[in-house]
Amino acid sequence: MTLDDFTSACSALAAEAPARIAAADSLDAWTAVRNDLVGRTAGRLTAIMGTLGEIPKEDRRVAGQAANAVKVELERLLDERQAELATSRGAGPQIDGTMPSRVTWQGARHPVTLVVDEIIEIFRELGFTVALGPEAEHAWYNFGALNFPADHPAMDLHDTLYLGKDTVLRTHTSPVQVRTLQAYPPPVRVLIPGTVHRRDPFDASHAPAFAQVEGLVVDEGITFADLKATLSHFARRFFGAGTKTRFRPSYFPFTEPSAEMDVSCGVCGGSGCSVCKQSGWIEILGSGLVHPAVLESAGLDSTRFTGWAFGLGPGRTALARHGIPDIRILYDSDVRFLEQFSR
Ligand SMILES: [Zn+2]
Repeated sequence: MTLDDFTSACSALAAEAPARIAAADSLDAWTAVRNDLVGRTAGRLTAIMGTLGEIPKEDRRVAGQAANAVKVELERLLDERQAELATSRGAGPQIDGTMPSRVTWQGARHPVTLVVDEIIEIFRELGFTVALGPEAEHAWYNFGALNFPADHPAMDLHDTLYLGKDTVLRTHTSPVQVRTLQAYPPPVRVLIPGTVHRRDPFDASHAPAFAQVEGLVVDEGITFADLKATLSHFARRFFGAGTKTRFRPSYFPFTEPSAEMDVSCGVCGGSGCSVCKQSGWIEILGSGLVHPAVLESAGLDSTRFTGWAFGLGPGRTALARHGIPDIRILYDSDVRFLEQFSR
């Protein structure tokens, strides 16, 4: 064995090893390649080094250095490949970082929920808090405490769903007015969102269960001017700065005087269109000063305290805002419709 023979054997091993190490696609394959290249018993480098004694003495130092350089290089490549195999879990599926991600569904808030949340945000800036009450309600809270006369048509079986003799599914959120006034002394400023129930047919403009938002203010010295100013401010915030409001006399058992509030039509700007039925105005809410009998029902002195209240249907408001002609689409849970409203 000459020095040349020895170094060319080392070079041949060093030349073929990188491709073999790279081709090891599992830890088992890697172990086999390592044993074949540098294994202590059957390794080819070990076999080459075993011939060192056959080389002339004066060349052994150079030969040993050459073999050692190959050993260091092979062990470096083997360590690298072992680390790669450990992180990719052997021969498991390889990750393609350029593959597009799967389409994921993201939920969106319901258009009615968006309207309710927006109303609450606007009134919260004015110092209102949120009050909630039961949907299955005592008839006294739903009617009697709210100054409904005993023969009021709303109490009729055709309009109200009775769960028992004195228990109804509330027909409006107004019972929470009485519950709030019983629980908290004035000043009271609350917003009352919730679901209400009527024995209405399910058609393009009616639903048997729908959302309502009610507001209530009670304190000393509250007047109709407070009502008009607050609701007009709300209309400008909700519908746009240029929105005009008008109040028309109306009747509700639990307010006196009572008024319905219209806002100028945002579609035509007041000149008349199909959305506002050519009137230039859209009816938004009912309101009024809290009837003294309601304050007395809640145990308040109606000669000392006054208040105002309003109620609106956020479902109808959502339809008006988006120009949707049929209320039933709000109940269909059709994601093609609902997913348009995320914000
Ligand atoms: Zn219009």
